[in-house]
Amino acid sequence: MMLLISFFKISFVDILDIIFVGILFYQLYRLVKGTAALNIFIGLLLFYILWKIVVLFRLNLLSEIFGQFISVGVLALVVVFQPEIRKFLLFIGSKNPLKKANISIWRERTEKEEYPKINTIVKACQRMSASKTGALIVITKEHLLEEYIQTGEVINARTSLDLIETIFFKNTPLHDGALIITKKMMIAARCVLPITRQNDVPSNLGLRHRAALGITEHADCVAIVVSEQTGKISVCCEGRINQNITVDDLKLILRKHFITQGIKEKVKK
Ligand code: ATP
Ligand code: MG
Repeated sequence: MMLLISFFKISFVDILDIIFVGILFYQLYRLVKGTAALNIFIGLLLFYILWKIVVLFRLNLLSEIFGQFISVGVLALVVVFQPEIRKFLLFIGSKNPLKKANISIWRERTEKEEYPKINTIVKACQRMSASKTGALIVITKEHLLEEYIQTGEVINARTSLDLIETIFFKNTPLHDGALIITKKMMIAARCVLPITRQNDVPSNLGLRHRAALGITEHADCVAIVVSEQTGKISVCCEGRINQNITVDDLKLILRKHFITQGIKEKVKK
């Protein structure tokens, strides 16, 4: 009974404390939303809550073990969230006002748009597949991939068949790297993506496919690859690759990801 009374004694400072912690966690959540780090973040949070419960019920041995984990926790956090911390510092430390201005323009413009132009993208892939033009297209979801946009050339143009083909046309300045699309806008081309860390990727897949896999491990997005060597189309999401798919399959997959998902979100709101 005493425990319960002392447990529920809440002062004004406690309420402030809870509000600040709430704000802090919400900001952290926004930072990692849509990335694989979100699961780690939730895992750590659950672990911390579990530890507090163990301490509350005075399970000494267990709390000692958990406490040891928590005491090296800060170090572990830095290691686990190294890419996120690096991206965050890069973002706030970036001193290129021109690129930033461009990004804010596309942010405003994309907010008004609805879904990506799936038919146009699929048609472009079909044509590039027939002509064996290598291509790498990333379509974003929640996470707008700002840090990767900054590695390329911001183009900010509405998605069009001719433009996609022109971008990937061999030996043009923008054909290398990835094209990033958000909703109806082609945001940037020639972007450098992270290479997957999976070590069981089939050996026939080169850097283009590995970069497509890599970006879908880093963030919630869909990456389409047209192989320059074989003309085959592959699609990646959540660190998995679906190789050699037909254009009809590609259309279905993109609709499933972007249109059905979008409708579901609207209904939820
Ligand atoms: P393909 O079947 O088209 O040959 P591949 O998977 O075998 O594809 P590579 O032959 O290694 O891949 O393709 C190299 C091309 O992939 C580069 O010219 C470049 O455009 C692109 N690429 C390589 N690394 C990256 C990266 N990190 N981010 C974005 N694009 C990349
Ligand atoms: Mg190759």
